[in-house]
Amino acid sequence: CGIVGYVGSQSALEVVMAGLKRLEYRGYDSAGVAVLADGGLAFAKKAGKLVNLEKELGARPLPAGTTGLGHTRWATHGGPTDANAHPHLDNAGRVSVVHNGIIENFALLRAELAERGHELLSETDTEAVAHLLAEEYSGTGDLAEAMRLVCRRLEGAFTLVAVHADEPDVVVGARRNSPLVVGVGESEAFLASDVAAFIAHTRSAIELGQDQVVEVRRDGVTVTGFDGSPAEVRSYHVDWDASA
Ligand code: GLU
Repeated sequence: CGIVGYVGSQSALEVVMAGLKRLEYRGYDSAGVAVLADGGLAFAKKAGKLVNLEKELGARPLPAGTTGLGHTRWATHGGPTDANAHPHLDNAGRVSVVHNGIIENFALLRAELAERGHELLSETDTEAVAHLLAEEYSGTGDLAEAMRLVCRRLEGAFTLVAVHADEPDVVVGARRNSPLVVGVGESEAFLASDVAAFIAHTRSAIELGQDQVVEVRRDGVTVTGFDGSPAEVRSYHVDWDASA
């Protein structure tokens, strides 16, 4: 229901948790975060309010990292449990993805993945995307390209944000029929389902078009179509009242 991604030099966990709090008004039943740190990927997720996730992070702190993502979930496929909360990971625990929306062809994708030996640990439509990204990444070694290849196989409505432990300074996003906005700061960048998540940090934003993938780094943003064609970047200034 709400998505936040971050790459920069601040604590990704702090930026992401603060962003999720700004998205609380949307309503949700579970929440989770992932951070890239020490060459790996660490995550925490919990059913219930953000305070449950905060308690979990207090009991089992994540390593400090400056690239990460977070999610508040409004369950559509699979009940509101810890296992169904986002982020979802591949079996190697190298890629992590969060999703708003519905992947319509999830049953077929999950069945194909199970046949290829993937172990699915949740009942969600979203988890299929984590495993597909891992497969495509092993072929391409490029998370944005993996995302483009996966998106072409998805049906439905989705905002996706993903990180891979092998690309510690990159966050990738994609959208179809569901919103995704990029916030461009000084040597840092944000991805969110709503500008409210990053308005405290920057007012410089880029709205992603339909069927586009964005690769976000500290010092730049690259936007393409799902087919890899370069896309025009549409920047704008967010001028509404931050206290709203
Ligand atoms: N369909 C996904 C799920 O049920 C995402 C729901 C959402 O938009 O929060 O996990």
